[in-house]
Formats: sequence, C-alpha cells, structure tokens
Amino acid sequence: MQVNVPDLSDKAVRKALKTHSMWQEYNSRCIFCGACTVACSTCTCFTTRDVIYGDNPEVGERRRVTASCQIAGFDQMAGQREFRSTAADRMRYKILHKFHDYKACFGEEHMCVGCGRCTQRCPQLISISATVNKLSQAVEEIRAQLAQQ
Ligand code: SF4
Ligand code: SF4
Repeated sequence: MQVNVPDLSDKAVRKALKTHSMWQEYNSRCIFCGACTVACSTCTCFTTRDVIYGDNPEVGERRRVTASCQIAGFDQMAGQREFRSTAADRMRYKILHKFHDYKACFGEEHMCVGCGRCTQRCPQLISISATVNKLSQAVEEIRAQLAQQ
C-alpha cells in the first residue's frame, strides 16, 4: 500500500482537522487497549507504579511501567478532568503527534518510522497506513473548503 503523508504545516488546516468527521469511526472501532502503542518502535510514554512488598510493608519499589495515550485515563488530571475522553480524540492525538507535532518540535523526520507493528498488533485491524491515507484525504477536503472561503 502506498502511504501519502500530508503536509500539516498550515495552522488553519490543523485547526479544521480537530473536528473533522474522519476521527469518528474510531469511536466504534478502537477498544482503547493500547496494544498499538506498546508494540510501537517509537512510543516511549511511561508512568510509575509503587509496589509494596507483602512480607515487609516498609519496603517497596517505584517501577517504571509503559503508559499509552490510547488508554482511557492517560491524560486524567485533578478533578477527574480529561482532555481526550473518546477513542476518536485519542486516535487524533496519536496520529497528529506521529505525523506533525514530533517533527515540529524535535527535528527533520516524523516520529513514525513505518514499521507497521501497530497494525499487526491491533485486535480491531486498524491500519496506520489506511489511517494516514484517510488523513491525507481529509486534508485535501479541508484545503478545498478553505480555498472557497
Ligand atoms: S508504524 Fe509508526 S506508529 Fe506504527 S508501530 Fe511503527 S513507528 Fe509506531
Ligand atoms: S491496538 Fe487498535 S484497538 Fe487497541 S488502542 Fe490501538 S488502535 Fe485502538
């Protein structure tokens, strides 16, 4: 499959993408298991978990464990506030991070290296290649709409 990675340098395009209908399909497909990010070659998010030993409650350890932006509660803050409360929101965040934000912040290349591990691991058969091509299509639509304004 050929993957068409869109140019997202236009802020107006990115703003319109936030509310584009393309993300809605993931509300009925993604089960927010996080398997895609655990398998990902370039995802590095983690959290910490305190483990207290049963034989001596005075002793324990703080472990670094994998976290995932695709799992509910990842961005939960005080007062139970969540920035991305639906699978659609979380998928949009992941895809735009992989194909815009990371490169805009850190360098020359996109974060995604195209290994396809996330696609292989997803129990819902959600393909990163197909998602990026849908993103490209959405960007084309948005550009056409903006040109008419
Ligand atoms: S294709 Fe991209 S998003 Fe998927 S596992 Fe590889 S680096 Fe991660
Ligand atoms: S592996 Fe598939 S179903 Fe699970 S969080 Fe990732 S995209 Fe959603």
